[in-house]
Amino acid sequence: MIRNQKKHPIADPSPQRLREALEKGGCRFTRQRVAVYQYLASVESHPTAEEVYAAIRPEMPRISLATVYKALDALVVCNLANKLTFSDGPARYDCHDEAHYHLRCVKTGKVCDLPTPFDPDLIDKLDPKLVKSLGERGFHVTGYRLEVLGHFEKT
Ligand SMILES: [Zn+2]
Repeated sequence: MIRNQKKHPIADPSPQRLREALEKGGCRFTRQRVAVYQYLASVESHPTAEEVYAAIRPEMPRISLATVYKALDALVVCNLANKLTFSDGPARYDCHDEAHYHLRCVKTGKVCDLPTPFDPDLIDKLDPKLVKSLGERGFHVTGYRLEVLGHFEKT
């Protein structure tokens, strides 16, 4: 596994650092949550909950899929992971903290990061009046997401 090429919200995902982040977010620290986080931090694949479950089960044979879902929810609540949803298909997760774009294969549902630098001003470039007009309607813009959709020729 390639662990050093990733950017973690917590540079060193040691159990102690994870404990602090989980407790700060009002979530319980459990060994299962550590395992789920460490798996997410070790892969680039933006796995689904079922994929996380299949991957950590050999190490934790008694973990249930429901526990994996709860662990992922806790990590998302505590800003340790991101949940990526799409209209048809299971949610996928990553734990990259820096804002980034995604590529999604519409045939397989696979998601990966785009190497393109994130542009915090992209919304203003799309529509310079948008943030202000939404603000006038009581909507406070906190960010945006962008996914490039498509598929590989041979999938
Ligand atoms: Zn990502």
